[in-house]
Amino acid sequence: MTSTPAQAPIAIVSAMHAELAALLEAMPDEAPVRLAGRDFWCGHLGGQAVVAVLSGIGKVAAATTAALLLERFGARAVLFTGVAGGLAPGVAVGDVVVATELLQHDMDASPLFPRWEVPLYGRARFAADPALAGTLAAAAARALAEPHATLGAEAVAEFALHRPQVHRGLIVSGDRFVATQAESEALRQALPEALAVEMEGAAVAQVCHDFGTPFAALRTISDRADDSAHVDFQRFIDRVASHYSLAVMMAWLGMQR
Ligand code: SAH
Repeated sequence: MTSTPAQAPIAIVSAMHAELAALLEAMPDEAPVRLAGRDFWCGHLGGQAVVAVLSGIGKVAAATTAALLLERFGARAVLFTGVAGGLAPGVAVGDVVVATELLQHDMDASPLFPRWEVPLYGRARFAADPALAGTLAAAAARALAEPHATLGAEAVAEFALHRPQVHRGLIVSGDRFVATQAESEALRQALPEALAVEMEGAAVAQVCHDFGTPFAALRTISDRADDSAHVDFQRFIDRVASHYSLAVMMAWLGMQR
């Protein structure tokens, strides 16, 4: 596929269908291109050319998806939107985290390389594009100021949601669903700056770094990465996170014109 820079789409990626369901419904002219077992939904949202895709879960699935978005679809920016476990104190279920940088918490080639450093990259952390992350955080603050308006009163009551706080900082990724108090505590000890943990973001950040393409990530906190992390996980995505993703992306796309 060839695309001139003016037509180059913005890529919007989630790991799982439920995370992107509301957004896909809002793309009227979406047409799927099937590649490597994934559907790339090419269409328009908020007047902008968009390619939306489900990466699947985990770092390898995310990296494959990102490489295809950049190489085959010529994406001019990549935005990841999904859910994550809250790590830092004060990062509560229903809050939103926008990454300033991302790290693979399960990368460890020590003693050959410092813990977490990606060998031969000379770095452990990959920065989100500051301008993109800044506008994404602004869009989140604007779109989520009134959760009742986005979700309806029922969902707000069911999940005891307050006005979501938008946090900005380090997101860590690894091929583990962190679902015990012991494991999340170990991550907090090792990486006290980490706000949230998920399974894809740092991989996409690394691929975007390789291609020199701007990347940003937004995660709604679905759980606290503790022993009850799996409880209501799916329902939270369906009722809350999916709608937050759509609201924030629409606000962000509106800011691009
Ligand atoms: N229940 C799902 C599996 C979810 S895996 C199923 O059965 O298909 C968790 C997904 O949500 C990943 O894509 C990850 O990025 C994110 N996530 C949310 N909370 C997480 C946590 N506590 N630890 C790791 N990833 C988490």
